[in-house]
Amino acid sequence: MKTLGKFSIGLGDRFGHQGSAQLNAITEAAKKGIDITPVWNKSNREHNIIGTQPGDVRAEADMVTRKAGFTKPYFVDADHINLDTADRFLESSDFFTVDVASYIGKRADDVKINVFLRDAVKFTGKLKIPGISKPVSVTKDKITGIAEKYLFAAAKAREIYIKIEESKGRGNFITEVSMDEVPVPQTPVELFFILKMLGGENIPVQTIAPKFSGRFNKGVDYAGDTGLFAEEFEADLMVIEYAVKEFGLPESLKMSIHSGSDKFSIYPLIGSIAKKHDKGFHLKTAGTTWLEEVIGLAESGGKALDFVKEIYIKSLEKIAELCAPYADVIDINISMLPSAEVVSGWNCRKFASSLRHVPGNSDYNSNMRQLIHVAYKLAAEKMDEYFQLLEANEKTVSQCVFENIYNRHICRLFDL
Ligand SMILES: [Zn+2]
Repeated sequence: MKTLGKFSIGLGDRFGHQGSAQLNAITEAAKKGIDITPVWNKSNREHNIIGTQPGDVRAEADMVTRKAGFTKPYFVDADHINLDTADRFLESSDFFTVDVASYIGKRADDVKINVFLRDAVKFTGKLKIPGISKPVSVTKDKITGIAEKYLFAAAKAREIYIKIEESKGRGNFITEVSMDEVPVPQTPVELFFILKMLGGENIPVQTIAPKFSGRFNKGVDYAGDTGLFAEEFEADLMVIEYAVKEFGLPESLKMSIHSGSDKFSIYPLIGSIAKKHDKGFHLKTAGTTWLEEVIGLAESGGKALDFVKEIYIKSLEKIAELCAPYADVIDINISMLPSAEVVSGWNCRKFASSLRHVPGNSDYNSNMRQLIHVAYKLAAEKMDEYFQLLEANEKTVSQCVFENIYNRHICRLFDL
């Protein structure tokens, strides 16, 4: 069976120009003794907004790894797919993020629920997960509630998995199950029973992406109680370890953290808790690389600066339309957005430092950053010009991309 390795990072590259810079960050980490498997991920939503095909991601990943002489494993992730969208990814992907969010809360039929409960009731009482200090009390009602909420979704995951397996063959791809794009987080106890369901459905899930407490907004830091996150993350790791033994799931099953870019305040916690228990993880990022392209172009000045200023000004006009597909994963305070007039007068340094995620820098504006994060559609509308500018300023842009992934992400996660 194909496996991901202990540490892996999902590197979204919306416009397909930064694969080499991203890979450089991975090889730089390897020089420091941290082996990370790169995974190039792109969702159906991103493909539709930009007008690309899954095969484009495969071509980029193959090309940049070949050029760099990178001989370790790498993957191409069909990110957030379901029964309706899986088809176009089957040929080019070898990692599938099976998204069951839209099926959560739909009730499975009584027969299925009863079959599940017949076995699950043995966990009624005090559930003692090894590694978690306090046992959690679990009532039959609680288990029934979890079954009613998640069993249907687990069955759908099976349907999607089978569709992929029939095309790719068992063991030839990585299966991730994601539940992060929902309003309410899953508790460690819920995760435990969800993993039981996935084991029951015989899905060889290797990464699981729950929704954690707190806000995981796109492109900005974690917002929430970091202490609570640490407790939840550690409990989830212990749940996974126990569930692997209990429910016959793959030994390689590990946690996947979605909307994982830029969560600087919890990276040291993720890194240290994983280290404490000798666990790996998958961190999925996407839009942070597009933001670095905008920053690099701003720094380049001239026409490139004009182009990104125009994107920002247009994004102010189209804010409702741009934000709609991302409503659950951004929090923009509109009153904190600089006006078109103000930004028109900015020099390259001011524009770049307003957007660059350096906590504590007085120019940094997380509202502007989130708006640009969702504004990539505007660059896609002027793709030829955008690509020309990226190519003309490649050195500056790729340096920004590298620094972001390596210095701001990997170094914080692995305490380098
Ligand atoms: Zn996600």
